[in-house]
Amino acid sequence: MSQQPVYYFDNNATTRVAPEVVDAMLPFLRDHYGNPSSFYKFGSQTGRQVEEARAKVAALLNADPKEILFTSCGTESNNAALHSALVTHPGKRHILTTAVEHSAIINHGKFLQKQGCEVTFLPVDADGSLDLHLLDKSIRPDTALVSVMWANNETGVVFPVEEIAAICHSKNVLFHTDATQVPGKIRMDVKALDADLLTLSAHKLHAPKGIGLLYVKRRAKFQPYLLGGHQERGRRAGTENVAAIVAFGRAAELALANFQDENTRVRALRDRLEKAILAGIPNTIRNGAQEPRLPNTSNIAFDFVEAESILLLLDQIGVCASSGSACTTGSLEPSHVLTAMGISPARARGCIRFSLGIYNTGEEVDYLLQHLPPIIKKLREISPAGSHPPAAAAHPPSHARTASPRTTH
Ligand code: PLP
Repeated sequence: MSQQPVYYFDNNATTRVAPEVVDAMLPFLRDHYGNPSSFYKFGSQTGRQVEEARAKVAALLNADPKEILFTSCGTESNNAALHSALVTHPGKRHILTTAVEHSAIINHGKFLQKQGCEVTFLPVDADGSLDLHLLDKSIRPDTALVSVMWANNETGVVFPVEEIAAICHSKNVLFHTDATQVPGKIRMDVKALDADLLTLSAHKLHAPKGIGLLYVKRRAKFQPYLLGGHQERGRRAGTENVAAIVAFGRAAELALANFQDENTRVRALRDRLEKAILAGIPNTIRNGAQEPRLPNTSNIAFDFVEAESILLLLDQIGVCASSGSACTTGSLEPSHVLTAMGISPARARGCIRFSLGIYNTGEEVDYLLQHLPPIIKKLREISPAGSHPPAAAAHPPSHARTASPRTTH
């Protein structure tokens, strides 16, 4: 493992596990390894810890603990939501979603299309915003579910999910929201929101990877995605990942405690970074609406350069960031989110997402601002695209041509 200092600006991809979270989960890896479904105390006491964690994540959402079911990740929760809506409404074969969802919705939607379902991917405008009138008109009598993310992982653009839930319920249609990027950044209250289903993933809020949840509103019909044992009150089979669930509970407490920091200090760092880049580096532009937007996310187009080249040079100085969408990094496909916003493929290939978090400092932002302008200048000087308008800058760097596709964050 590299000993180089890390300047981490990729918190929408994943987050550092908080030391408090590590402390909370370690005893369940080391000592308390009993199966929560066991009869004896050594097992059943871990079951009590699972329930305590459930109460903590429920508090983050203002949900009832019984409405929370733990899953293995955000992807599973998203898949489970779509699956359940279709199975519990056998006469309905239409899903309404957006063109800018995470691949866990988009690719599941494409799979469902191959299975004979109809899936509508609503467009967005240049700001990344949805036309709610169009959404309203696109709900059909056979729509089983509307699934719209709460905040976009690439641009940070926030959708008006309360209004969308109200539109869905006025037509008696279930509403699911992928809220994976939201905890700690926007106050979450499922009672006010009135979603039927909601996805979270723990590794976006300083807990480990491989644990997520699906909120299922009380009395909503639900069909499990994983069948087997009776864990999670029969709604998600598989022995509980106790240590990770305990970690998720502790991380939920911290997300509530750090909410103010994320919305003041982190927001100010993000704004300072963004303003300095846009003012100091020519031919740069922010992608997506300025507001409403997650307080930590900034997605910037650097015209006449390839994002992969920027990321490579940033990596050499220890800076971690992402191109518009990591799912397409290396596959030479521009981000589906940015292209849905009408951004040309050439410009979309030069976009970088900086996503900050509670562990970022002003010194780290200074470091990035010191090194980024010369990197862009150097790349523009050597790039064949550097002397051309963005439309001509479609040639990937040679290292990108051989890279293998990665996954969306
Ligand atoms: N939804 C969104 C908006 C995300 O950003 C991510 C993270 O990559 C996911 C879903 C998938 O979550 P997970 O990595 O836990 O499967």
